[in-house]
Amino acid sequence: PSSVHVIGGGLAGSEAAWQLARRGVPVVLHEMRPGYGTEAHQTDGLAELVCSNSFRSDDAANNAIGLLHEEMRRCGSLIMAAADGAKLPAGAALAVDRHRFSEAVTNAIAQEPLIELRREAVDSLPPEAWDSVIVATGPLTSPGLAEAIQGISGEGYLAFFDAIAPIVYKDSIDFETAWYQSRYDKVGPGGENEGSGDYINCPLDQAQYEAFIDALLDAETTQFKTWEADTPYFEGCLPIEVMASRGRETLRYGPMKPVGLTDPRTGRRPYAVVQLRQDNALGTLYNLVGFQTKIRYKQQVEMFRMIPGLENAEFARLGGLHRNTFINSPRLLDDRLRMKVAPRIRFAGQITGVEGYVESAAVGILSGRFAAAERLGEDTAPPPPTTALGALLGHITGGGDPETFQPMNVNFGLFPPIYGENGKPVKRKERKPAQCARALADLDRWLAGDTPRAAAE
Ligand code: FAD
Repeated sequence: PSSVHVIGGGLAGSEAAWQLARRGVPVVLHEMRPGYGTEAHQTDGLAELVCSNSFRSDDAANNAIGLLHEEMRRCGSLIMAAADGAKLPAGAALAVDRHRFSEAVTNAIAQEPLIELRREAVDSLPPEAWDSVIVATGPLTSPGLAEAIQGISGEGYLAFFDAIAPIVYKDSIDFETAWYQSRYDKVGPGGENEGSGDYINCPLDQAQYEAFIDALLDAETTQFKTWEADTPYFEGCLPIEVMASRGRETLRYGPMKPVGLTDPRTGRRPYAVVQLRQDNALGTLYNLVGFQTKIRYKQQVEMFRMIPGLENAEFARLGGLHRNTFINSPRLLDDRLRMKVAPRIRFAGQITGVEGYVESAAVGILSGRFAAAERLGEDTAPPPPTTALGALLGHITGGGDPETFQPMNVNFGLFPPIYGENGKPVKRKERKPAQCARALADLDRWLAGDTPRAAAE
């Protein structure tokens, strides 16, 4: 077969190239460093870890990221093999010696005869002659390529920073206090919680609102990295602490405005509200509408639990605002990670709207496998949605709402619910182990229909 071109030798691009080569498909891997750098990379190694040296929890029986590790290992992941080989003591987490890790990836790629590494930038639309391309250029994609991607995807479908509102697990919201209602819709008779309106509303009285604003104004905001300091705020998605600093009432006229809402418990309009909107197709996750923030994570949890109805909230993701580059995948990509308008171009890594080293590499596995199957004239089914790989793919190509799409780490909220033999949802305590066991069994079945060519060595 002719070569697939992979642009970007980071976590995702190295993994995609590896998966292609393992299936006998030749690859040209284009990495712009060291000729051109980014604001964060410091070496010329492939798969450089630009910040933390942790791959997070390695617990595949109870934790979604640990499960993803194990699924990747079973897919013959280069990134996981290199991480396991460079492991440092870190309790239940998988932390690595970043230099040994990057060196292992760089050496494996250099020694793979089917991969040609070219140290060059592809800073415009890939030439038409490249009939299969994987763009894996990451959160710090070079400006020329970003512009070219924007050109084919359309205005507004490539973002240069993320504005992340916190997301809670719906089953941790207290519906004794919160209720469903869309603005100006009637609330169900007797204040029924289920079914009437798309939003979940949490009411605040005046004292609760004032206390919340005080906490916001006191909160210590995380510092922008120096090169992020000039990140402009879009007026449409200001962090809540910035809004509060403009005036104590600003939020009550913004995301916390109570108009058109009636608290079924009092029959009156509350002083202020926090609204939550469904975040995934399964309806297990809800985001706090308009609540993007840069407050430190620990403080966010304390503050958001001040909101009536969220006292025991569990968060699938906390708020953030970072320099990032990502496309609107639910709108632009098909379920094999191809651009709908230009199917010769696939994407992988953080640029698809996943978040994190491991997740980025995981999408590299998928993109590499899909591109290989296409080259070899085979059809690879996407991984089942019950697996961590399938859940992540679902977030970026299936379940995510294109209107509110923001990057996401893997988490159990992305998985379909799990039922016991009695047909009832598995109890909370047993749910994570049950989801992990189901995922690995389903992954093995998927892999059995899609096994790689035996390693060439
Ligand atoms: P990258 O690993 O960045 O790889 C992209 C590669 O493409 C780079 O090598 C780059 O040089 C190259 N490239 C770019 N443009 C071109 C071009 N036009 N032609 C050729 N090559 C090009 N995640 C975590 O899990 N933990 C963290 O602590 C963490 N910290 C982060 C800190 C910062 C400052 C940033 C920006 C992100 C951080 N992330 C973190 C998020 C994310 O996991 C990493 O950025 C991860 O490296 C993404 O993997 P990737 O393969 O998509 O991109």
